[in-house]
Amino acid sequence: MQDTQPLFIEDSYLTTSEATVVAISDRGGIVLDRTCFYATSGGQPGDTGFFEREDGSRIDIAATITGESKAEIIHVPANDQPVPGVGEKLMLHIDWERRYKLMRMHTACHLLTVICPYGITGASVGENESRVDFDMSEIVDKKDVTGKLMKLVEGNHPVFTQWITEADLESNPELVKSKNVRPPKGSGRVRLVCIGEGSSVDSQPCGGTHVSETKEVGEIHIGKIEKKGRENRRFRIRFGPLPE
Ligand SMILES: [Zn+2]
Repeated sequence: MQDTQPLFIEDSYLTTSEATVVAISDRGGIVLDRTCFYATSGGQPGDTGFFEREDGSRIDIAATITGESKAEIIHVPANDQPVPGVGEKLMLHIDWERRYKLMRMHTACHLLTVICPYGITGASVGENESRVDFDMSEIVDKKDVTGKLMKLVEGNHPVFTQWITEADLESNPELVKSKNVRPPKGSGRVRLVCIGEGSSVDSQPCGGTHVSETKEVGEIHIGKIEKKGRENRRFRIRFGPLPE
């Protein structure tokens, strides 16, 4: 299948975009030449939203997923939606309210890995709650972690991306915090997500969407820290203040 230009990689704040249909998969998925819809990857769910046709009618999109490779992006229509023709021009609209929550949550997960400098064994970003699993046996207090998280949020550190070569990454293996997910290889370059002036807070390979300043994360707290085995702790991040 044809690769799609992923516009969200360069601009995570792009909510609409024009695109042309290049294929319809045998299961009815829509493949475009370019898209602002993020496709499920790295623990972050794909975008939902709608496509606007030239006559003003809509095609609702229920999910966005990757195909055989990460470069293949498939937009999955909701039930009973019309099928556009190959070559048809569409205006894409993501559900920005949902995506922005995911961007805030995803950025919060990065901040948590700064406070908990342990290997990451799993992560899942959600609209209302995210979780990060760490390879750790230390006991930490959720009030203490919440306080440190909010200090990073309130510090309003810039969040930006930087491209490095695979060779650079190989000579700096400590950049990769995930224990079981390695950055995709083969393209020759790796995208780093950096936090703080000159990456002073953090940098790690990531292909997801993030806010551009930590203050945008807003008020968050650690809802729960669960013990998942002797050397595994699951942290749940939620929006809002820590309940009394
Ligand atoms: Zn990320």
